[in-house]
Amino acid sequence: MSAPPAAGLFDPATETLDRRSLRDLQLRRVQALLDEILPCNAFYRQKLGDHCHVPSWDAFAGLPFTTKHELVEDQALTPPYGTNLTYPRDRYVKLHQTSGTTGKAPIRWLDTAESWDWWARCWGHVYTGAGVGPGDRVFFAFSFGPFIGFWAAYEGARTVGAMAIPGGGMQTDQRLRSMLDNDASVLCCTPTYALRIAEEAERLGVDLAASSIRATVHAGEPGASVPGVRARIEQAFGARCFDHTGMTELGATGFSCQAQAGVHLIESEFVFEVIDPQTLQPVADGGQGELVATNLGRAGMPLIRYRTGDLVRVDDSPCSCGRTFARLAGGILGRADDMVVVRGVNVFPSAIEGLLCEFPEVSEFRIEVFSRRSMAELKLLLDAQPGTESGLAERVAERVSDRLLLRVPCELVPAGSLPRFELKARRLIRRDG
Ligand SMILES: [Zn+2]
Repeated sequence: MSAPPAAGLFDPATETLDRRSLRDLQLRRVQALLDEILPCNAFYRQKLGDHCHVPSWDAFAGLPFTTKHELVEDQALTPPYGTNLTYPRDRYVKLHQTSGTTGKAPIRWLDTAESWDWWARCWGHVYTGAGVGPGDRVFFAFSFGPFIGFWAAYEGARTVGAMAIPGGGMQTDQRLRSMLDNDASVLCCTPTYALRIAEEAERLGVDLAASSIRATVHAGEPGASVPGVRARIEQAFGARCFDHTGMTELGATGFSCQAQAGVHLIESEFVFEVIDPQTLQPVADGGQGELVATNLGRAGMPLIRYRTGDLVRVDDSPCSCGRTFARLAGGILGRADDMVVVRGVNVFPSAIEGLLCEFPEVSEFRIEVFSRRSMAELKLLLDAQPGTESGLAERVAERVSDRLLLRVPCELVPAGSLPRFELKARRLIRRDG
């Protein structure tokens, strides 16, 4: 007789495997994936050859990386979907695309019925980590356009027996009303948008902390792992705040658990590596570097050793929740291309965001990067609530100087003048001159 499932785990058989067995399982799945895709996937056949065998981790480390640039180029050369397709087009049932916030053309991504189920199961891990299950009503403050956003989360709610409530096509006040009318117990949205809802609730005199929301699950931005942002969301909603990592191209990669100590990587469905983005060599255990991921369950449009551009630090020490899946310490620390070096100090927008969350009167902000004598400089624009006293900019500048050891000029702008974000917030603006 098998043991009863451990409480609070989605797939106890893999989530509590010892690290060595987990690595063996991954290696077997890598080979199974290659055997499935190479006969007909032109993109990977060209990269890896017809007969690629990966009997060891050394052999795996010899496979080439896949980059976003390659995917963009491939789709431009063979529109509309490129050549990374394992099956005939009629096997695919879902289309999504990247948000294209960097000003470039979005990448289109297709799923088969099987890979869409796989996404939903990955979300089973995310929900279970956040303690979401039968009886929960999950509200999605999301626009449900072509960007993947929370589409897979919406699909995945049923894998844990929860109800999915779509909040597309609504203004913030309508979403707030729908959430309350339906007694939603869980909210899924970006961390920025959660704060936007909190702002709206305050304006309307709604006490969110007294609502039935008990957990919030966030993606799209690193905020939910930034202590200051998390504390502000938890306080506003009277709920526990959980982080989730994922990408259109890869799928749902990670989740935070009840311990709220980092983001567990779903290692039963992915192989993860951390490399130095300059030398492309693996970083020492626990060192900071770029996350590289191989998905094991999305054969229709797979990715092998995909460079995510996310900077992380991986911790594979045991977690108090009982899972053996490694964790991203502090979630995603930043984007490799968002880091700004100012007078020798590495600055990530998330560090500034975390710090600004300690100032509840700041409702939005912008980080401007410009160059002076070929050196990067920063300026911080603060959009504060009406009636805020004028000393705020000086107090923020002082706090930045204390924490980041960097003097950054801060300036108040008229209340409500900076853009608000629903999806991925772009608060770092680079200016010439
Ligand atoms: Zn844990």
